[in-house]
Amino acid sequence: MVHTAVLAAMIPPIASRFVAGETEAEALEHARALRNDDIYTILNLLGEHYHEPAPAATDTQTYRQLCADLDNTGLGACVSVKPTQIGLGVGEETFEENLGTIVDRAEETGQFVWIDMEDRTTTDATLSAFERFVQEYPRLGVCVQANLKRTAADLERLVELPGKIRLVKGAYDEPEQVAFTDRDSVNARYRELLELLFTEKSAGSVAVGSHDPAMIDYAIDLHDAYGTSFEIQMLMGVREDAQRELAAEYDLYQYVPYGGRWFSYFYRRVMERRENLTFALRAVLNR
Ligand SMILES: Cc1cc2nc3c(=O)[nH]c(=O)nc-3n(C[C@H](O)[C@H](O)[C@H](O)COP(=O)(O)OP(=O)(O)OC[C@H]3O[C@@H](n4cnc5c(N)ncnc54)[C@H](O)[C@@H]3O)c2cc1C
Repeated sequence: MVHTAVLAAMIPPIASRFVAGETEAEALEHARALRNDDIYTILNLLGEHYHEPAPAATDTQTYRQLCADLDNTGLGACVSVKPTQIGLGVGEETFEENLGTIVDRAEETGQFVWIDMEDRTTTDATLSAFERFVQEYPRLGVCVQANLKRTAADLERLVELPGKIRLVKGAYDEPEQVAFTDRDSVNARYRELLELLFTEKSAGSVAVGSHDPAMIDYAIDLHDAYGTSFEIQMLMGVREDAQRELAAEYDLYQYVPYGGRWFSYFYRRVMERRENLTFALRAVLNR
């Protein structure tokens, strides 16, 4: 395990593989460059786990400004927010209030808003906010996690609603009582849920949030069989050659984090895969 202090000393040239920069201007510049490759952007201001109203209000305001700044850029970019970034750690009411103001601004400026999914303790509140807002504002999407056992039951309700559903494998370590914890079971579940989405989603569309070639190929097969509208979403810095190839044929969105709180996000990316760690160490040695 690499010590966090060592990683902290490596910034920011290495982190720039996974994070667009500390400012909105840098993130927008990255989004403009991606458009040359026919890739769309999902912008995420880094921040999570706030337990005070003030930082949640500040990030809510920054998202509102971002929506305004994206208006008329022609980038087709959308935004993605984390519930504990905009108030869920303070309370459900604060979260819904802040989400409501972002969604209102996005409605005025025509942006699509994604709600990321955090750990299992946030699932009920996140889905309940999505279900409440999407009726009025269909340019809204929510992420669901294939590793959680509850997700199939959640999708039975969600497929009936407008808006988009992003299916991911799940980034949080969850206990066996509520989650599939081995890779094969998660992969099998991901396939089952893709099938459910492509066959049952009656309005809105499906987003495949994965870098896994097997899952993407399966989604394309399902699209060819059922004609369901879909997009592929991948993270900045991961399989970018594949992103460019897929973008020539399908709607491809790159999830682009930016902002001053980049360290923990970068640390997660580096720790989740040996290749990412090798990349980081090589970048340091070559400095
Ligand atoms: C757009 C997007 C949004 C997300 N939002 C959320 C969210 O809101 N909540 C949440 O819990 N999780 C989220 N995630 C993370 C997700 O849950 C997974 O942790 C993450 O995507 C890794 O799973 P995977 O499907 O990419 O496949 P993995 O099982 O990690 O990898 C499968 C295969 O993909 C390929 N691959 C993966 N990474 C690399 C790499 N670095 N280089 C080369 N090949 C690679 C390899 O072939 C590998 O065998 C999101 C992911 C994406 C892409």
